[in-house]
Amino acid sequence: MTSGAQPADTHCPYCSLQCGMRLRRIVSPESPGAGPGGTTVAVEERPDFPVNRGALCGKGRSAAAVLAPGARLTAPLVRDRRTGRLREAGWDEALGRAAEGLADAAARHGRDAAGVFGGGGLTNEKAYLLGKFARVVLRTANIDYNGRFCMSSAAAAQRAAFGLDRGLPFPLADIARTGCLVLVGGNPADTMPPAMRYFRAQQAAGGTLVVVDPRRTRTAETADLHLRPAPGTDLALALGLLHLVVADGRVDEAFVAARTTGWERAREAAMAHWPERVERLTGVPVAAMRRAVELFCDAPTGMVLTARGGEQHSKGVDTVGAWINLCLATGRAGRPHSGYGCLTGQGNGQGGREHGQKADQLPGYRSITDPAARAHVAAVWGVDPDTLPGPGRSAYELLDTLGTDGGVRALLLMGSNPVVSAPHASHVTERLRALDCLVVCDVVRSETAELADVVLPTAQWAEETGTMTNLEGRVILRRRALDPPPGVRTDLDVLHGLAERLGVGKGFPTEAEEAFEELREASAGGQADYSGIDYARIRAEDGVFWPCPRAGAGRPHHPGTPRLFLDRFATPDGRARFADVSHRAAAEEPDADYPLRLTTGRVLAHYQSGAQTRRTPELDRAAPGPFVEVHPRLAARLGVADGTPLTVTSRRGSVTAPAVVTDRIRADTVFMPFHWPGPGRANTLTNPALDPVSRMPEFKVCAVRVEAAVTE
Ligand code: SF4
Repeated sequence: MTSGAQPADTHCPYCSLQCGMRLRRIVSPESPGAGPGGTTVAVEERPDFPVNRGALCGKGRSAAAVLAPGARLTAPLVRDRRTGRLREAGWDEALGRAAEGLADAAARHGRDAAGVFGGGGLTNEKAYLLGKFARVVLRTANIDYNGRFCMSSAAAAQRAAFGLDRGLPFPLADIARTGCLVLVGGNPADTMPPAMRYFRAQQAAGGTLVVVDPRRTRTAETADLHLRPAPGTDLALALGLLHLVVADGRVDEAFVAARTTGWERAREAAMAHWPERVERLTGVPVAAMRRAVELFCDAPTGMVLTARGGEQHSKGVDTVGAWINLCLATGRAGRPHSGYGCLTGQGNGQGGREHGQKADQLPGYRSITDPAARAHVAAVWGVDPDTLPGPGRSAYELLDTLGTDGGVRALLLMGSNPVVSAPHASHVTERLRALDCLVVCDVVRSETAELADVVLPTAQWAEETGTMTNLEGRVILRRRALDPPPGVRTDLDVLHGLAERLGVGKGFPTEAEEAFEELREASAGGQADYSGIDYARIRAEDGVFWPCPRAGAGRPHHPGTPRLFLDRFATPDGRARFADVSHRAAAEEPDADYPLRLTTGRVLAHYQSGAQTRRTPELDRAAPGPFVEVHPRLAARLGVADGTPLTVTSRRGSVTAPAVVTDRIRADTVFMPFHWPGPGRANTLTNPALDPVSRMPEFKVCAVRVEAAVTE
């Protein structure tokens, strides 16, 4: 075995922290994981990258496993028209079949019958070109991505309150310097462990941590105070806390007067949520609410961070709005080491929505209905603005109508696995089967790829260059460290090949840097302005925070913007806007038939639908399958013990998985992780009721019944 001399500095393929890592090339022809020429990479620490300072979780440390030829696709597949089975094919045949399927659907049912579904793990360059492909080549309105299932509620609430959405409007390092941190529905100890260094530093410096979560997670165990509201009641809890802030005279009147609008309505709504009522709704004792308000208001600075637990609800936007209200009323926003932020989830959930994968947005975080935005982007693309489609269906609505009259009939899907990750997954699977043509671009033969007519094997993180935007809005660069296996192409090659076959020969570069240069132009002047960022700067500065306009006449070199809103919010009058919100019930409340709540989440070893991490031997060994957490009192009532197979049933179906009896979960709630397909697929149960603004499905709460599984 020999090691290459020049290690490549790059970033983890998984979550939004985008930890820096170093890849050392290893030439080892005998190694089972080795690729072309017997070459693979070893993941090493990269202590100089500021976000993680060398720390990696098990997912990042083991990320090289998915590069091995045995773990992934290395040849295109097409569904044989005679046998109905997937068989290997050449690239010409596969791209031809894919282009034909998309063109046929448009010809027979109209342009919007060809659709695109993207992913929050795609690089900025891919997300940008995928959006351009949909709007310029297919000219379809129907493009959205799985990031809609991630942080769309937080994005909508931030835009409403601050006029701009960036996951964290401050660097992660600021967390360590805030006086009181309230974390709502997030569990970084399992989802992004290296981020916990900031939480530990915050407490070590005398700060306090309040965790809001129905589960006693590993993060909650480190908290000074843990509030355990029933799933679906976070909005009521935030209103109850604001009620106490007002009642105790802790409102920062000067800040409210100088930097906000809409306080009177927000105040009235909070006063209607008196603490005893909130205790009945949430199960959180009034005394605990009072303690939380003391910790938050007595500290000199404070932050509220939300994650999916607070956001994946049919009232997710209002829930986040209520937490932002708490920050605004107490003067904890737009000030150093204070504010609201969202811990985004997917690797490029942030950049993915900034550059055109979202149904309602054009590159630069521009609205697709804004005539000036359309004119700007159309000029960069060299097309008539009137030919650009308008907004299309949101992610679940797009999936829900696949194969129907008026719905998408042929779908190009890149970097997503909705058979496992979409809500009401059995229904979504049926809809995918109903398509005339499904084209899947992926690294592995995922559960969704199994349904495809064409599967295109694509290169992955260590094999290609491209930028990502992490949860702080820091634009970073992944560097190519080794060649993809023969038979594999990049996603940019795929879009270029499809565009060519569909009659658009230009405008789809296959080099990432060339795509980024065009993205800079398209984003210039938009909210997410990347025009002052280039690859050389990212390399030199280890990431640049957007917005970062280009230097030019009268505009000096821009340093990037690590902290937003310190002088003014991004609203027309510069003031933050309080949300006018009141508690409302979840779309499904427990009843006689379905007396319990189900909530879902992640485990330490796995990422999202598990398509990559389930194929990583050490992660699969660490967490080999789904389970159902039940409280000991519920277990006693059901007559079940640790390991007893349980059947969990919602209005959408039943799943079976072994019990884990633990008081980590509330007695009226059960918890399941969502990383697995098959009989234990948690998303068979979840409710696709949508938030009216963000179109976020209600992943985090539905009504279920639980019983011991009947065994033969
Ligand atoms: Fe990768 Fe996220 Fe783990 Fe960092 S925390 S190593 S980015 S999965």
